[in-house]
Amino acid sequence: MARNRRPPPSDRDLGMDRPITRRDFMQGAALAGAGLAAVPLLAGCGHRTPPLRTAAQDQPGYYPPRLTGLRGSHPGSFETAHRLRDGQRLPAALELGEEYDLVIVGAGISGLAAAHFYRTAKPDARVLLLDNHDDFGGHAKRNEFEIDGRMRLLNGGTYAIESPRPYSDVADGVLRAIGIDAPALAKSTQKKDFYASLGLAQSVFFDRETFGADHLAVGYGTRPWADFLRGAPLSDVAKRDIERLEAGHVDYLPGLSSAEKKARLLRISYRDYLKDLVKVDPAVLDLYQARTKGWWGVGIDAISALDCWGTDMPGFKGLNLQPGSIPGMGFTPAGFADTGGSLFLHFPDGNATVARGLVRRLIPDAVPGSSVESLVTARVDYRRLDRDGEPVRLRLSSTVVGVHHDGAPGVAGQVRVAYVRDGRVLGVRARHCVLACYNAIIPYLVPELPAAQKAALHQAIKTPLVYTSVAIRHWRAFATLGTHSVYSPGGYFSTSRLNGTVDIGDYLSPTSPDEPNLICMTRTPCKAGLTEHEQNRIGRAELYATPFEVFERNIREQLGRTLAGGGFDPATDIAAITVNRWPHGYAPENNPLFDADVPEAERAYVRGRARFGRIAIANSDAGAGAYTDVAIEQAHRAVAELLGA
Ligand SMILES: Cc1cc2nc3c(=O)[nH]c(=O)nc-3n(C[C@H](O)[C@H](O)[C@H](O)COP(=O)(O)OP(=O)(O)OC[C@H]3O[C@@H](n4cnc5c(N)ncnc54)[C@H](O)[C@@H]3O)c2cc1C
Repeated sequence: MARNRRPPPSDRDLGMDRPITRRDFMQGAALAGAGLAAVPLLAGCGHRTPPLRTAAQDQPGYYPPRLTGLRGSHPGSFETAHRLRDGQRLPAALELGEEYDLVIVGAGISGLAAAHFYRTAKPDARVLLLDNHDDFGGHAKRNEFEIDGRMRLLNGGTYAIESPRPYSDVADGVLRAIGIDAPALAKSTQKKDFYASLGLAQSVFFDRETFGADHLAVGYGTRPWADFLRGAPLSDVAKRDIERLEAGHVDYLPGLSSAEKKARLLRISYRDYLKDLVKVDPAVLDLYQARTKGWWGVGIDAISALDCWGTDMPGFKGLNLQPGSIPGMGFTPAGFADTGGSLFLHFPDGNATVARGLVRRLIPDAVPGSSVESLVTARVDYRRLDRDGEPVRLRLSSTVVGVHHDGAPGVAGQVRVAYVRDGRVLGVRARHCVLACYNAIIPYLVPELPAAQKAALHQAIKTPLVYTSVAIRHWRAFATLGTHSVYSPGGYFSTSRLNGTVDIGDYLSPTSPDEPNLICMTRTPCKAGLTEHEQNRIGRAELYATPFEVFERNIREQLGRTLAGGGFDPATDIAAITVNRWPHGYAPENNPLFDADVPEAERAYVRGRARFGRIAIANSDAGAGAYTDVAIEQAHRAVAELLGA
């Protein structure tokens, strides 16, 4: 097997010294936020307390979608919450004298949808949304670049309207209320076959550390296997095993009924299925190890074989399994197995367009324009989000640290909500509160919750992920190599793909490889061999500890190696980098390998989301599904609980 013996590139070769836009954010608002988080919090009240400053979002030019560097869970957004978790006592809140009908913790899709449902039921209601980030949308964040005079957009998190089951009337109703006719837009805006029309295909990058040599195999799924694997650093046995697995004609569980096969596949990992039943070469296991990371954030060692069948992974055709899920399957595969999934609609900034649409509905003059097309290109006026006297206010960089009833939960007429902003603990009051944040933080915000409910909420360990947006001046290397998307089983980033092509209104995707484009690179930090939750915990700690420079060096090195044959030069071709780090990413879903098979009503997410007096719990954790429709439906349930509907 040939081995590459080239010396590793220097930082200079990689372009680590180039003045691209990546750290501008660190010199601005984030640094201020990070600094504040490190000093003791000011006591809320007292005659020596300095007056409140003008908030960053109220200052001219405030426009976070354009910020680069470390985004997602950005510096300054999480430190207060971690102090709370670590038991630090906070000073008493400075009461602002503001009273609302509803305060919502978290301005992601679920929090924004909760405001929409509440205001629909009570059009005169006064609502305040508080979010710890410097931008709204939660995971549905927008990365906006200007490269050589062209606006280029990518999703910083939530990628698309796409779910394992069709959108319900509730979820679809929200889309329609904000002007999104998903079926019509799916037909008119998506250019799904654009790259294929240029002859570009999917590829696999075999790295020398895992497979012995660097090699890009182009044409996954489109070329005959023998052609695709020619030159790949794999033995003939491994190549034959891949072909056998992908063809999938063998029944690896002969003599069992479909139901018996499903029951067996539910309890073994896909890795064990490939190893022990399909009996593939060990190199094939390495090749498929990261295939499940996009859906679940962990490798095939931690996902059941039946769940992989439910998401169309190879190796099952010969088993002749009956269509449909069985109890115990994960949320995603069960949904796909039963319904085939929802329609697919990707906006250029992902579901940030949905978040913008909800903000426009709630605070109309903050988002210029009225059409769905203008949602994509509008420059949101952040100074209009939080104005005195307005019925809906959206306050950013505000971490909620306490939600308490003003008296006993059953009889209190109000809740007090305390939050930290600019180093100060501030207080507001409301008739109702929706917690549209993460389940795991709720016990710290509402310590009065019953112990069993807190224990159930603590079980929600979210999946950590990194979505990185890399702005490139042209994509000639991709065109030369004939690929638009690369799977890298051994890479720091598992996938690197050119931005999806969508034309909507004035926003036109690039058509020529000479134009600027964006690459999305995904990483899901985890540690194979442990339970899914243990892997998530380790990955989350890794994400918080990884500085931007480490991501940047890996981006440059990996793209340089993968695209070397196309002439890609990481030092000159990269224009900007935004690393969207999500230590609290996907909502946890049921995993049949590790979770007890208990009735729905006994599951932790159902027990955890119970209403508590004037406080209700929304967000996608509460529905145990990492999807936008779940986030919306949970908001609907939470508001209905509060209003007694
Ligand atoms: C990288 C990534 C890609 C995804 N892709 C898709 C996709 O393509 N399609 C899909 O349907 N779903 C996708 N999802 C799932 C996504 O989580 C949901 O679709 C949806 O956006 C979740 O909305 P939410 O409001 O429930 O949670 P979030 O988006 O997490 O919003 C909760 C908000 O509350 C804030 N918060 C937490 N604690 C506090 C506090 N104490 N004080 C104030 N604010 C607080 C959080 O920081 C956050 O901003 C993706 C998720 C990730 C991470």
